[in-house]
Amino acid sequence: MVRMAVAMRPRWSNWAGTYACEPVSIESPASEDEIVAVVNAARAAGQRVKVAGVGHSFTDIACTDGRMIRLDRYDRVLDVDTAAATATVQAGITIEKLGVELARHGLAQENAGDIAYQSIAGAISTATHGTGATLGNIATQIVGLSMVLADGSLLTCSADTDPDLLAACRVGLGALGVISTVTLRCLPLFNLHSVEQPRDLDEVLEQIDALVDGNRHFEFFWFPHTDRVQSITNNPTAEPIRTRGRASTYLNDILLENSAFGLVCRIGRARERWIPALNRFSVRLLSRSEVVDTSARVFANPRLVRFSEMEYAIPRAAAVETIGELRAMIARREHLVGFPVEVRFVAADDIMLSPAHGRDTCYIAVHIFQGMSYEPYFRDVEAITSAVGGRPHWGKLHFQSADTLRPRYPRFDDFLAVRNRVDPERRFGNAYLDQVLGRS
Ligand SMILES: Cc1cc2nc3c(=O)[nH]c(=O)nc-3n(C[C@H](O)[C@H](O)[C@H](O)COP(=O)(O)OP(=O)(O)OC[C@H]3O[C@@H](n4cnc5c(N)ncnc54)[C@H](O)[C@@H]3O)c2cc1C
Repeated sequence: MVRMAVAMRPRWSNWAGTYACEPVSIESPASEDEIVAVVNAARAAGQRVKVAGVGHSFTDIACTDGRMIRLDRYDRVLDVDTAAATATVQAGITIEKLGVELARHGLAQENAGDIAYQSIAGAISTATHGTGATLGNIATQIVGLSMVLADGSLLTCSADTDPDLLAACRVGLGALGVISTVTLRCLPLFNLHSVEQPRDLDEVLEQIDALVDGNRHFEFFWFPHTDRVQSITNNPTAEPIRTRGRASTYLNDILLENSAFGLVCRIGRARERWIPALNRFSVRLLSRSEVVDTSARVFANPRLVRFSEMEYAIPRAAAVETIGELRAMIARREHLVGFPVEVRFVAADDIMLSPAHGRDTCYIAVHIFQGMSYEPYFRDVEAITSAVGGRPHWGKLHFQSADTLRPRYPRFDDFLAVRNRVDPERRFGNAYLDQVLGRS
């Protein structure tokens, strides 16, 4: 009988295929009352409970051995205040749907990451970010939220009523409760002028402050085993939308960035020694391109190639030195790295567990194609970023524990105090939270 019950458990796995779990059940509440009912039922049965967004974290942060909640039926816009430029939405809404709905009201998110598949609650819970030296991660856009707690009660907090509690809940790693609704500070709808351009890495590093401070959004992708990068600048413009033609869009965005890239990755996986030559071939295909489009469409791109990723938030002042060390380490340790390294910039914030807490930040992301061993490379990168006090992205692979993370977060113990208050029995706990927050 026990064997039958285990066999009937549903299986859930994340997008990258790096983690899977078999929850007791997967439930899709469609109202706040139904969320409360799932939490109460879990408590009555002595089970743990965890919300999974759309599984776009590379870690096991969303895994559970208890009840899993999916909020794909709880994804509507509840209220838009166009005068105040705020919107209150149900937590399961995806960034993509949010962008479409906000645009109907003449509004937009001030910044976003480079995909739009995530749920808003999943994105803020791991401090998902885009790029822009004056802009915080997505969680900094949240000015209020409501959350179902372990005892079934509803907590509401806002920047006006309880900024300190909001500073814990905005990047909560799913450890504090089920976020039910969030209120976002938005901007009037705006277009971005986006310019992609191949450059030399050394030239970019020499001009880094001018590039980062001179553009609302600046980032670059460096291709290991070459000295070339593709840089991207996005700046607000009053110009009307001017996209590439459909055929050209397909060529640039899908074929070069995804399908053709996928083919190159598969060749590299089959013949690892060819990777440096494949990278040199790829950078020859890079070209300058320019579009003007709505901010939401410029921020997000499809991602058809699957990979494993680690990303570190380091002090912005350490960016040039750290990238130099990364480059030297890849050569010295003879890592064969087919995926470009992505470098972005984010403003400091005051959120307790934000990797950008208290310091202007440079994010360095490293990737390995699905099915290839990532650990030796990621561990070497982690040693370099850790030496400058790097903090890992909560949704991306890393090898840290509560002991190594505590000294990197000035308000780590304040977060644990909030957790002890709202979830003393660890109803929302899981193995990942034991690792990064500790077992106590
Ligand atoms: C292809 C790809 C591209 C990416 N690009 C970026 C990027 O540009 N920038 C960046 O910073 N990150 C990026 N990420 C990482 C991604 O944004 C984060 O991992 C994000 O958390 C995923 O959101 P999700 O909805 O899938 O949440 P999940 O991964 O499913 O869950 C993440 C966490 O949120 C919690 N959670 C979800 N919903 C709730 C809720 N209602 N209440 C409480 N907790 C909740 C979960 O319990 C879990 O702890 C990328 C990931 C992929 C796979």
